[in-house]
Amino acid sequence: MSQRDRIVTLAQSHGFQHVQFATMGPTPHFEAFAKWITAGHHGCMEYLERNQELRAKPQIRLDSVRTAMVLAMEYNHNRPPDPGGLTGKVAAYAWGRDYHNLIGKRLKKLKSSLRELGIENWGGVDTAPILERSWATEAGLGFNGKNNVQIIPAHGSYMFLAVLFLSAELPADPLLPDHCGTCSRCLDICPTNAFVKDRILDARRCIAYWTIEDKGPIPIALRSQFGRWFFGCDDCQNICPHNVAPPDSAEPDFAPRNAWIDLEEILAASPEALMERFIGTPLRRPGAEGLKRNACVVLGNMGLDAAIHPLRRAADGASDLVSEHARWALEQLGG
Ligand code: SF4
Repeated sequence: MSQRDRIVTLAQSHGFQHVQFATMGPTPHFEAFAKWITAGHHGCMEYLERNQELRAKPQIRLDSVRTAMVLAMEYNHNRPPDPGGLTGKVAAYAWGRDYHNLIGKRLKKLKSSLRELGIENWGGVDTAPILERSWATEAGLGFNGKNNVQIIPAHGSYMFLAVLFLSAELPADPLLPDHCGTCSRCLDICPTNAFVKDRILDARRCIAYWTIEDKGPIPIALRSQFGRWFFGCDDCQNICPHNVAPPDSAEPDFAPRNAWIDLEEILAASPEALMERFIGTPLRRPGAEGLKRNACVVLGNMGLDAAIHPLRRAADGASDLVSEHARWALEQLGG
């Protein structure tokens, strides 16, 4: 068995279905990323501004690295049917356990197995200063769709990505051609017109950004476009023809526990109870106030009288942020 095959088998044994390699050089597409940051399209995500030198040149951390190994783990499960009532939708990546925990633990084991083989390495998931989608394209894992998401032909885009930089010299995989062609469905369906153009997302207009990353007031002009998206948004992935029949994830931890969320329950719960309810899941990220804020926006969009009572209580609550969003929602329901 070749060294490459041994490493692929090792990575697969840790649950990564897709393993591809690129020869080290400067980070591909770094200039486009730097321009995106300069344009302010990243909004409040200041962590993306840090460690630019390392993002551009991963060899700074470990000068022996020769190969970028890109790993992908499938997370798709079928969305459970709409339970009706006052419920909001969650993006598929967040239905189960926080992938940072699960993949972080798997990577830790994989890194030490590689070290036992004499291969030095560093890397991580999207919290590390790595342009993982650029490396994925460079390693021929998939191609970068116009929605700026990595798409693996015949597998789709519901994947978590990770990158490990290795000291081993391994043969690079070929680049894949772009399979978007003249299609523009993802750009056309975006409810908030968040794409400035192909592959350039202005996060400040993106539903996922506002419901997960930014903890401030959601711009009034965007709120009614959120529909029932309570946490994240999958519209630009769901519409993609490459996601017609994505494979089912092999990870029970990603099973859909939180695909639909009872919004009345969110508004009624104490902040402590909410953080406890979502422990170990991505839904803790916006904080309790952020979740309540999101719930108000969705309730305002649903047009159901049943939302009036919970919204009135939220409007009278102690949080200015939640109260303002609740008042906005009540206005949408007729005052
Ligand atoms: Fe490409 Fe069409 Fe998929 Fe968008 S929806 S990523 S344009 S194939």
